[in-house]
Parts: sequence; structure tokens; C-alpha cells
Amino acid sequence: MSEQRTEQARDAGTDRHVVVVGAGMAGVQTAVALRERGFTGPVTVLGAEPHQPYDRPPLSKAVLLGKAEDSAFDVDFAELDVTLRLGVEATGLRPAERVLDTSAGPVPYEALVLATGAEPLTLPGSEGVPGVHLLRTLDDAARLRPVLAAKHRIVVAGAGWIGAEFATAAREAGCEVTVVEAAGQPLAGALPAEVAAPMARWYEQAGAVLLTGTRVAAVQEGRVLLSDGRELPADAVVVGIGARPATGWLAGSGIERGPDGSVTADARLRTSLPGVYAVGDCASFPSARFGERLLVHHWDNALQGPRTVAADVLADTAGAPAAGAAVVGVPVEAPDYDPVPYFWSEQFGRFVQYAGHHRPEDTLLWRGDPAEDTWSVCWLRGGILTAVLAVGRPRDLAQGRKLIEAGARVDPDRAADPAVPLKSVALPEPV
Ligand code: FAD
Repeated sequence: MSEQRTEQARDAGTDRHVVVVGAGMAGVQTAVALRERGFTGPVTVLGAEPHQPYDRPPLSKAVLLGKAEDSAFDVDFAELDVTLRLGVEATGLRPAERVLDTSAGPVPYEALVLATGAEPLTLPGSEGVPGVHLLRTLDDAARLRPVLAAKHRIVVAGAGWIGAEFATAAREAGCEVTVVEAAGQPLAGALPAEVAAPMARWYEQAGAVLLTGTRVAAVQEGRVLLSDGRELPADAVVVGIGARPATGWLAGSGIERGPDGSVTADARLRTSLPGVYAVGDCASFPSARFGERLLVHHWDNALQGPRTVAADVLADTAGAPAAGAAVVGVPVEAPDYDPVPYFWSEQFGRFVQYAGHHRPEDTLLWRGDPAEDTWSVCWLRGGILTAVLAVGRPRDLAQGRKLIEAGARVDPDRAADPAVPLKSVALPEPV
């Protein structure tokens, strides 16, 4: 740390060591946000992977197809005075001593940010079988590139977001692709059947085979056995059946975790342990806006959450109140973390975006014909817009997202007319 920074830090009481575990989007953005907000103390980011920190969305798109070599973040850690320790894995936490155990020995901390992301679920029994792949890391993408280039016959387990994006890339590379989905539709965890139905047709249009209502029962070298007795030849199998927060290493630390494995943070992304925060794919948080705890596995959440964590760390390490405090001349604004979740997916030549959070009982409104290239759907609860899914209609997404943020009540007839801009369907607030 520079001399000037050290002096400033002492003056402001912010010279405490912040350790960030996980060098993905959420971890790196936490370090960036701390500096942007004027935190002058030492910051160390630990990452289990040996690579320069990188962005994950391109892994199932440009990086997979060899159109981009890698997706390293454009962040100058030396310039930010952030110590990056790569290839170092956190293995345990001793909160009473404020010590993190790692593969490289104990690391003391004053504030600790958990940003370990998620790890993909594996198919039981498929571990170690040659030709079985996951798609979460840069190394996974690097292993899959030659598989695509060889134009292999590929079976994809799971028709979720990753399965669809992988199938898109594999078809573009000229592979034979069969996607096996246990549910009766793609994206079963995320979307109702009527919205997923047109998306199922995209597979066929792209020349991929989608088999729903059956699951991969066993993987053997060169073939896949399905639960309905069918057998598929497979030179490679790609498993895309979901991900779970990477928090197993916290067992025994006393930190609260939910049944989904997430660290159950509060509305300020603080955990049950003092001085420990959690953000990104590994953390869930209570959303007052949507009236439930959310676990969001999307990029935008890993971008936005770190700002709240940085504000907390500044407020807490300086001993200042969480709201309206000023540290080193930088105001710390600290509203609760309650975003409108957002994500996008590029699949089968379409740009799919979703904002908000709907429940199965919300009313669904179509904007446009799903047989066309572009359409949207809105979800309403008590007349209030809760979510928007847009296929090739980014304006619907942007305008709908603002209405959701505002908690706007909308005119359902006008909202169902794709010719009417969504921004103009809000109803005046009752006086
Ligand atoms: P991660 O990115 O998972 O980073 C966590 C890091 O912590 C990892 O590098 C991991 O190695 C490290 N780590 C884990 N455990 C430890 C430990 N014990 N010690 C030290 N380090 C540890 N979202 C979208 O909205 N749109 C998309 O199009 C999209 N595409 C995606 C494509 C792919 C292939 C994948 C995998 C994800 C995609 N996502 C997309 C999701 C998005 O990338 C994630 O939500 C985001 O990366 C989460 O960031 P994170 O920092 O919380 O976790």
C-alpha cells in the first residue's frame, strides 16, 4: 500500500484487512467497489483457479466457439493496490479468531467477503467417465473446444440456460446434438410450460434433438442410457443440470446456510457471523420487493451486490453508521440490497432477456406471437408488473424493468398489445 494511502487509512480507521474469497465477478467487483468508495486499507482477493480472474458468460458463447481466446476482466489489480492470490483455495473458517484457512495456510482477516460462486451439479455415476464434461470454468471451455471442432456426436444432459447455449454453439460448430431433459419442457425451473413451448421448437429449428420427459440414467464410454430404455451414441456428454452455491467448505464454521446451500445473508448482504459478508451466486438475500428470499445465479447480481458489500465494509470498519456515513470524504449510501434481478441468454440466434421475479400464480400476458422471431411476456400480481421475458425485444425489457423497479400497476389490455410501448402502460397511482 502506498504511504499516502496508509496514512489516510489510519486517519479514517479503515486500515483493516479485507479478504475476499473468490475471484469471479462478485469477488473482483467487491475489490473494485471498495476502492471506488475510498477504502484505503489492504484488500486481498483469493481465487481457487490459477487463471487471471475472468468473466463466465462468454464461456458458453464466444470462448467456446474459439471466437475469443479468454474473457479476463479488464481490471488492473496492481493499480488498484489489490493483492491477488490465485490458485489458493479457502478450506475453512475460524470466526472466533477471524482466520480463514486456505490451501496456502491461515489468512487473518478483519472483514471477510464470501464470493465463492456456484459449482455445477454432476450426474451421479458419471464422474471420471471419459468424455463427460461440465461447463463452468475456463478450463471446462478449453476442454470442450476440441470436442466441438471434432464435430462429435454430443449428448447434453439438461435443457436449462447452459444446455441451450451449449447446444447452440455445438450446432454452430456442426456437431450432432441431442439434449435430454427430465422435465416435460426446457427451462422447467424458470418458466411455465406455455412460455417454454415455443422455445422447445428452437432446438428443432437449429437441428438439435430435444428429448423431454426422460433422463440420463447412465453414462458409459461412447454411449448414454436413458431412463426410458433408449440408448444414444455419444462421443461426448455435457452435463448442464444446474449449480449449487460453493459453500461446502464453510461446514463447521457456524455460518448460517439455507437448504439450497446458499449463505443466508441479510438485506445488507451481511452473514450471521460478524464482519463476514456474502455476495453473488453463493449468497441468498431477503427481497422485500418480491416478499421472499432470493438466490440469484446471474451475472447482474454479481455486479450489483458488491456495491452494497463495499458500503457495509466501509461503514463497519470505520465504525460509522450504515446509512449516510462518510469515509475519506466519500459518502456511504447504504440502502438495502433489493434489486430487480436481470439476466440474458443468447440461444439459437435469439437474444432472450428476463427481469423481475414471477411466481407460478402470477397472471401471464403475451405481447406478440411466439411463432414469430420476437415476442415478450409479462407477469402481473394484483395488477402490478412482477416480471418480463423478452425475446428480441430489448425495449420491452428495459421499459418493463423500470416499471418493476417502480412497483407500477399496469393496464393489462395495453400491456398485452405489442404495438404499445411498455413504458406507457403504467396506471396512475390511486390517490
Ligand atoms: P463465480 O463466477 O462462480 O466465481 C466464484 C469464484 O470463486 C470462482 O472462480 C471459484 O473458482 C472461486 N472459488 C470457489 N470456491 C472457492 C474457495 N473455497 N476458495 C477460493 N476460491 C473459490 N449469467 C447471465 O446473466 N447471463 C449469461 O449469459 C450467463 N452465461 C453464463 C455462462 C456460463 C458458462 C456460466 C457458468 C454462467 C453464466 N452466467 C450468466 C452466470 C454468471 O456467470 C454468474 O452468475 C456469475 O459468474 C456469478 O459470479 P460469482 O463471482 O458469484 O461466482
